[in-house]
Amino acid sequence: MDKKKEILVVEDNGLNRSMLVEILEGDYEVLEAENGMEALEILETHYENVSLVLLDIHMPVMDGYTLLGELKKDERLASIPVIVLTQGDSEEDEITALANGASDFLPKPYRAKIILHRVESLIKLRETSAMANLYKYDRLTSLYSKEYFYQKARECIEKYPDEEYSIICSNIENFKVYNENFGRQAGDRLLVEVTELLKGKVGEGVICGRYGADRLLCLLDKEHLTKILYSIENEVIPKNIGMYEHVSVKFGLYKIVNRAIPVEQMCDHALMAVDSIKGLYNQKIVEYDDSMRQMVHREKEITDAMEESLKNKEFSVYFQPKFDLKNDRMVGAEALVRWNHPELGFMSPGEFIPLFEKNGFILKLDQFVWRTVCDKLTEWKNKGLPIFPISVNVSRSDIFQEQLNEAFEQMLVEAGLDPKYMHLEITESAYSESPDQIVDTVDELRKQGFKIEMDDFGSGYSSLNMLSRMSIDVLKLDMGFIRSEMAKPIERRLLNDVVNMAHRMHLRVVAEGVETEEQRDRLKDMGCDYAQGYYYAKPMPEDEFEKMLAEYKDEMIDFDASMKYMESQRHGVAEGSNDMLEKLREVSEFLPGGFFVYKADDSQEILSYNREVLKLFNCNTHEEFIELTGNSFKGMVHPEDINLVTSDISSQIDESNDIDYVEYRIVCKDNAVKWVRDFGRFVHTDDCGDLYYVLINDITKR
Ligand code: C2E
Ligand code: CA
Ligand code: CA
Repeated sequence: MDKKKEILVVEDNGLNRSMLVEILEGDYEVLEAENGMEALEILETHYENVSLVLLDIHMPVMDGYTLLGELKKDERLASIPVIVLTQGDSEEDEITALANGASDFLPKPYRAKIILHRVESLIKLRETSAMANLYKYDRLTSLYSKEYFYQKARECIEKYPDEEYSIICSNIENFKVYNENFGRQAGDRLLVEVTELLKGKVGEGVICGRYGADRLLCLLDKEHLTKILYSIENEVIPKNIGMYEHVSVKFGLYKIVNRAIPVEQMCDHALMAVDSIKGLYNQKIVEYDDSMRQMVHREKEITDAMEESLKNKEFSVYFQPKFDLKNDRMVGAEALVRWNHPELGFMSPGEFIPLFEKNGFILKLDQFVWRTVCDKLTEWKNKGLPIFPISVNVSRSDIFQEQLNEAFEQMLVEAGLDPKYMHLEITESAYSESPDQIVDTVDELRKQGFKIEMDDFGSGYSSLNMLSRMSIDVLKLDMGFIRSEMAKPIERRLLNDVVNMAHRMHLRVVAEGVETEEQRDRLKDMGCDYAQGYYYAKPMPEDEFEKMLAEYKDEMIDFDASMKYMESQRHGVAEGSNDMLEKLREVSEFLPGGFFVYKADDSQEILSYNREVLKLFNCNTHEEFIELTGNSFKGMVHPEDINLVTSDISSQIDESNDIDYVEYRIVCKDNAVKWVRDFGRFVHTDDCGDLYYVLINDITKR
């Protein structure tokens, strides 16, 4: 059976209302309201289903005439037929009702048959006229439908052969996301708002239509075009509409040069134009040109090829190392995808990634990259190579994937990897587009143990205070930002402030796109932590990267195993601090490198060390070592590095740093300076208090 149609009865008198309900409820679903205000509330959610309103005139709160006025004002409600309930003897009421837009009136007392008859015929009448209008008008915006727009535009162009016409097509950026976040109704409201705005700007008498979803069309003569261009350029049409920060309206323009082509095609040109500036923050309008057609053609080729290519292993992953600016040593790498297609050739990610983000293929491709990275890390580990954290790019559409967290978790469990070896680079623009969703997802990922890098910082609309809302670990400065900052006079530079601010928030800072020694030096002076760029290394295929890893191999110590061993020795000793330290010293001689223990208090007094440590400092005797270092950790470290080392150690303890070692310079006998890597662990003992155990080795040679 069909669903019953809905009728809304608005009447304050309870007795009258129940009489009406009784008459109607056999054939209709009846909604009841006691006054105009209540009626509007009901219509807010039921406007699509209510077929007719029965309305009393005299009511408290909001009377019948006021409600009629409200209904006519609201495009969603204006076409719902209203029957006004009048006192039997008041002709004046009847005339006023019709003049106010009522479709009919019903005098009291109520007679069931008459009521049912009038109601039924009015509903029928509305349905048939709606069918005719459906073709001509868009229900939501009341603009012409697409087909009717084509027809009207064609007529107009033919009628005025000497006038120059253009077609503009508008597009609401991120409309889909808006709908997803705030619901369809809010999306509809936004669309109506934009329509009103546009109609207001183009002025009366202009042919406007709705192309579909969030796209509106207008046919403009020269004068109207000038007007609208002015409005767009001067942001009379604001960049941000609605509650959503990055909803902006963009326009594509096609000037009709060839009147012979179908209007459909003209509109497609305008559409193609507006699509070509999707995501470009500063561009609000663009005119169609033929290269756009070529681009669309190219995009189609790419789209047709992508699935097959993934199957055929034509995508590969390159690695670009990241370096510590303090000592130019590798600390990790970024995975970057590469595509070499047998016919389309070698394509740059800059060309295909934005397209994949549009068509959704990015989800598959990113998963492929993440999995490849996991496989490689496992492979390197099994080969006994040192492994560094590898960062992968996470696209903004990945963030909206429901099972993103599970997918990552599963991947790592399968590979048996610690999440700290995978950094996730999330582009800054994703943060500003949908902050709430991102904050939740990222929090979850961090809880899982991933380190989060905010990519492309400074490329878009980020503000520094946005940073404090985000839970991230690393700030990755966009190369464009760095370049433009470096070009400014020193006093106007923001770069220093950004680095300082990031450090205050316990974030590490990576600079991207470092190409020259000069850039490196300046970033280093600023206190930037890491760098990535052609100056150090270009993205390279996995075998080349593997060779780089191999160069770091002999510095590797099995830190965890060594520490476990030392701890087991300490617990083996029953009583007395000297015994314990003596025992540690003895067994530490069997470790592959230097080992020492110092007090975790201000004195930083060295309690025990092995022979490798003496060698490291070029000392022959215990006395020489004491004289050189004052028998404290402070005395071992190069004076310029001491602050950094102290802060690095404390950031490791509060786990804001994923690298479990510190690197610094030491000053040896005869003032020789060496670079060392220090793997430290904080240990609490009953007999000697809090201690640091340190494995230390020389990394100077490179
Ligand atoms: P991005 O994440 O900002 O990556 C850095 C880009 O800068 C890379 O371009 C890299 O090759 C390039 N680059 C590195 N050092 C220098 C330098 O010193 N000078 C210059 N001029 N460029 C440098 P690439 O590989 O072409 O990637 C472009 C963009 O494509 C990436 O920008 C990233 O947004 C995206 N992308 C690349 N691979 C993936 C991926 O696997 N997944 C996703 N979602 N996006 C990816
Ligand atoms: Ca990146
Ligand atoms: Ca970047």
